[in-house]
Amino acid sequence: MDFLRAGSHGALGIGLFVCLGGAHANPFSYGSSAGLHAAAFNSSGVLGAHQSRPLLTDQLEHDERQALLAKSAPEITPWQEITVAPGDSLSKLFSRAGLPAREWVALLNLGEKVKPLEKLRPGDTLELRKTTSGHLAELRFKLNSVDTLSVSRSNLGGGGNNPGELEAEIVHLDTHTRRLSVRGTVDGSLSQSLSSAGVPPNVATQLAHIYRYRANLSRHMHPGDAFSVVYDAEYADGKRVAAGPVIAASITTGGQNLKAFRAVNDDGEVRYYDATGKPYEPSLSRHPLKYSRVSSPFNPSRLHPILRVRRPHWGVDFAAARGTPIHAAGDGVVTFVGRKHGYGRIVQLRHFDGYTTRYGHMYEFVDGIEKGDRVRKGQVIGYVGATGEATGPHLHYEVRRDGRAHNPLTMKLPDGESLPQARLAAFTNRIQPLIARLDDVPDMPNTLIASSASVDARHGCIRASGVNAAFALAPKNTRKRHSLAELFCVASSDTNA
Ligand SMILES: [Zn+2]
Repeated sequence: MDFLRAGSHGALGIGLFVCLGGAHANPFSYGSSAGLHAAAFNSSGVLGAHQSRPLLTDQLEHDERQALLAKSAPEITPWQEITVAPGDSLSKLFSRAGLPAREWVALLNLGEKVKPLEKLRPGDTLELRKTTSGHLAELRFKLNSVDTLSVSRSNLGGGGNNPGELEAEIVHLDTHTRRLSVRGTVDGSLSQSLSSAGVPPNVATQLAHIYRYRANLSRHMHPGDAFSVVYDAEYADGKRVAAGPVIAASITTGGQNLKAFRAVNDDGEVRYYDATGKPYEPSLSRHPLKYSRVSSPFNPSRLHPILRVRRPHWGVDFAAARGTPIHAAGDGVVTFVGRKHGYGRIVQLRHFDGYTTRYGHMYEFVDGIEKGDRVRKGQVIGYVGATGEATGPHLHYEVRRDGRAHNPLTMKLPDGESLPQARLAAFTNRIQPLIARLDDVPDMPNTLIASSASVDARHGCIRASGVNAAFALAPKNTRKRHSLAELFCVASSDTNA
């Protein structure tokens, strides 16, 4: 559940972008190797028509820059965008771009950073420039919404016959976090309502995930039900580049209000808790894999599909593609790994309070798993197969308590571990402003909250000017009932509860 987070490494690069932006459609920051690099852009002639403002405010003195520009430098072609077609490899792309094989070989020799270039997929795009002497001058490849692989030659502006060495770096777009709130009532379907309230799809998916053990949001919520969510989003260059995680949420349906708050448990794992510190997620899961359908339900008197005799089916069969990862249903200890007659390859886990789980017909076990190993809930233990008595790839999943089998799809699941008493006070304090934000800020237009509540999770209550501006716009009644701190400052020091 970790979301894209970039550090604030791009400040220098952003400065460059301000100037180069007009020449490139790509809104990224490049070239933190500064001086020579920048000079190469200008000397290439590509940007010659561009006004020659200083690239970076405190970069090079004017005279120094002029001296660099005067040096002879290799001619560099304009940026060329190449889209990967099915069946393309880096070597094919380079040959299409008119670059000899030694160039992509040298590029791939740059190690870990350029690894993504070995796994190009159709539709990916690369941008590159060449020197007129047939060398790769620069290359850019967008890795995700904030990271770009940027390759350039160290000596581009240096002139002469030496083409210089290729250097690779990952350029991070400078991002900052905003904490946003959205609330509304269901009109039509929940997903439509969330989307028309401006909730990013990713956040809507997280909501469904958080509440999945208490309510099926797509089925159980009805017109008139209310929702409210506080989430963090990453912004770069005024645009949202990532949304999530959900910090707090509230849904009101069927006369019931369910609030959920994000916190990190003692094992460093993110969980969602209700206001009393009880987790939303039970300690065992009903379906420990992504499956396509239940191919055979729990049935104490099943007619066995292969043996044609009545034989109880003490588990649930989940059909899934061969190789689909199977996750431990809960924290526990491995008590068996190996083959067992009808089960084929099977893993057996012992949990707390007499619970055990079994995972049969595996194609293979996860590397290195052994009897006696401790596993965490969600950890991959093996892969779906059809070993033993199985007509096709599926997982046979059993949950037993003190040896007695229970139907994992319908049984009451054991509660997850509540936050420890020692942390409850801090948690309770931390969620108060979140509760206020979920419930008590009426008539506050979404857009206002969205554009102004730039309380940064990492920096706490930020610049007063922003907060004041927002406050001045807030409806008068909220001004009376809420302090600035309540409205905009979510305590940042204890985000881990
Ligand atoms: Zn089965």
